[in-house]
Amino acid sequence: MQYISTRGGMTPLPYCETLLEGLAPDGGLAVPEVMPTVDGETLERWRALTYPQLATEVLGLFATDIPREDLARMTAAAYAPFPEEVVPLREIDGGLTLVGLSEGPTLAFKDLAMQFLGQVVEYALEQRGEVLNVLGATSGDTGSAAEHALRGKDRISVFMLSPQGRMSTFQRAQMFSLDDDNIHNIAIDGVFDDCQNLVKALAGDLDFKRAQHLGAVNSINLARITAQVVYYFWAWLRATDAGGWTEVSFTVPSGNFGNILSGFFAKEMGLPIRRLVLAANENNVLDEFFRTGVYRPRSAAQTLATSSPSMDISKASNLERFIFELVGRDAARVVSAWNDLDTHGHFDFTADLARFVEEYGIVSGTSTHDDRLATIRSVYETSDDVIDPHTADGVKVAREYLEPGVPMLVLETAKPQKFADTIREAIGIELDYSDELRAMLDAPQHVTEMADDEQALRAFIQENALR
Ligand SMILES: *Cc1c(COP(=O)(O)O)cnc(C)c1O
Repeated sequence: MQYISTRGGMTPLPYCETLLEGLAPDGGLAVPEVMPTVDGETLERWRALTYPQLATEVLGLFATDIPREDLARMTAAAYAPFPEEVVPLREIDGGLTLVGLSEGPTLAFKDLAMQFLGQVVEYALEQRGEVLNVLGATSGDTGSAAEHALRGKDRISVFMLSPQGRMSTFQRAQMFSLDDDNIHNIAIDGVFDDCQNLVKALAGDLDFKRAQHLGAVNSINLARITAQVVYYFWAWLRATDAGGWTEVSFTVPSGNFGNILSGFFAKEMGLPIRRLVLAANENNVLDEFFRTGVYRPRSAAQTLATSSPSMDISKASNLERFIFELVGRDAARVVSAWNDLDTHGHFDFTADLARFVEEYGIVSGTSTHDDRLATIRSVYETSDDVIDPHTADGVKVAREYLEPGVPMLVLETAKPQKFADTIREAIGIELDYSDELRAMLDAPQHVTEMADDEQALRAFIQENALR
């Protein structure tokens, strides 16, 4: 299997070669030259597999350049820090099923992809005899998932910028309690955008980037997208009976369009998915797109800080991969859409609106702070189950798209313990923390404080980077 760019300007590359590059040289995103497909017989055979075994099968369709036994070793290692089931399903009121994606080390769904990414990136670096210094900016979840997945790796170090004093106690503890030599937490005196601008400045200096072996592990990384495809298959296999060809629907709390894109891949591969329901919070640029056909990204200043903070996005980096399919894989039309965006601030697929639902099954909805509180409360009252604010956005929107006879699976993207304030506001209870979490919250913290100063950051990286 080879990978091409959504903008048509990349020589086809094998899976491992795309992992360290970020964007394709033409500014596009890597996509499979041909989407792999899975038939009904194969699906039935997969019912008996454990999660790591299923991951080996699904990822093996994408990473054909990795020998099977290497892949099996990596998926086993990636999912060892999870409970045995890895992704448990549970029912709540109203015929909804929650798909538990947050059982990993940082209590959010990003662990499922990051843990595999840590394995496969280390593998790709070994093959090439290279090292990688990951430079990133985080406002919380992504940074901690990356650090927990990459800690202790020989060929990788992490420089993670975060806005000083602007993360929750829990998020700070998750990152700063790590004392591995290859993890560098840097608290910048500024806001998240300042952190991101520093990353952009350094990553845009190609000489510095090359000399310091800088790279990223952001949400466009193919290892993350493909690892997320696995749990759509897993959830379908758990939620349906053997021999049937039952269609199910998934609701996905969405930000960067990464998670739901993986569901879209699963559907394109032949998994019987009826609807992919995109749930947005108040930052509903994607809901707007799927309702109107017009995509109009917003500025950072127009992005609201909400109580489902991991969905606070103003543009969705992975959307381009969906657009590529929408225009029949015509790279020239992708380029022209992005030119429209640059010139007019939006692009327009109003003419294709009917196809969003009919061909791809994608529908969408928006949930607000009041909706989140009401949903957390109602699920608690009727099912005695505490859900986090992002999952609540999902449950709220899922209820608008229930259809008789079609199981509705809602992806649980985080554990409520990460968002204790909102839980208290919704249902007035204090959540229990496990001994492990309590120890993490009490552990000594390791962080370097730094001014919002590009030169200081350059010097720090020069001194501490692997080479
Ligand atoms: C990242 C994240 C999301 C959004 O996922 P995307 O792949 O960016 O659409 C939703 N919920 C939680 C808890 C997250 O951490």
